[in-house]
Amino acid sequence: MEKKEEIYEGKAKKVYATDDPGLYIVSYKDDATAFNGEKRGTIADKGVVNNIMSDIIFALLEESGVPTHFVKQLSDRETLVKAVKIFPLEVIIRNVAAGSFSKRYGVEEGTALLQSTLEFSLKEDALGDPLINEDHVLALGIATKEELAKVSAYAHKVNEILKAFFLEKGLKLIDFKIEFGKTSDGVIILADEISPDTCRLWDVETNEKMDKDRFRRDLGNVEETYQAVLARVQNTK
Ligand code: UDP
Repeated sequence: MEKKEEIYEGKAKKVYATDDPGLYIVSYKDDATAFNGEKRGTIADKGVVNNIMSDIIFALLEESGVPTHFVKQLSDRETLVKAVKIFPLEVIIRNVAAGSFSKRYGVEEGTALLQSTLEFSLKEDALGDPLINEDHVLALGIATKEELAKVSAYAHKVNEILKAFFLEKGLKLIDFKIEFGKTSDGVIILADEISPDTCRLWDVETNEKMDKDRFRRDLGNVEETYQAVLARVQNTK
């Protein structure tokens, strides 16, 4: 597989074309941003953790019937994936109140939600990724009703699989963000990453935050925490 030109550089990853138009190479960086790019930094070896962890989780999801872009890990930082056009939507599922949900609705962080809650944000940094509802998505032509139904069903399935997976590792899945894309054949698959950058994970015993909130909120032990999460995820007990 030949790596060709860079086709996209995001905040945490670069994407390269390959000699196969149906395949891309994703390369994970150590760059960290928060608050819509206002806070910037580096988390040593974050790219390695996020690459390896995403691949483990995508393989698990694939086995469990959720189609994903994952093809093959190429190195510590690089993974071969199916080429997709990403829907400009952040699909967020919450099990416990935290972050922007707590702020927006005045609910204390850590409050269990009576049901898992799905929300969409429009992926548009210039607008601050505004919350968007299903009617807005349809009205703006971002996805069709059928596509949205599929995305929502997959997102809830991902939540059920990941809640159980992380619990086995002593981690509570508080919330997470995923992204979906469409292949050139029109098939909807899970894309992007699933990592401590995109999930809130709290230790089951201590409620210690084991995710990007350590960077966002200057809680310390950022690198160590990313390594600890990877070690738990890799531990096949
Ligand atoms: N999230 C993300 N990228 C974003 C916004 C949110 O990965 O651009 C994740 C975040 O890590 C958390 C979940 O989505 O696990 C919900 O985030 P929230 O809306 O509470 O936003 P935040 O408090 O991170 O601004």
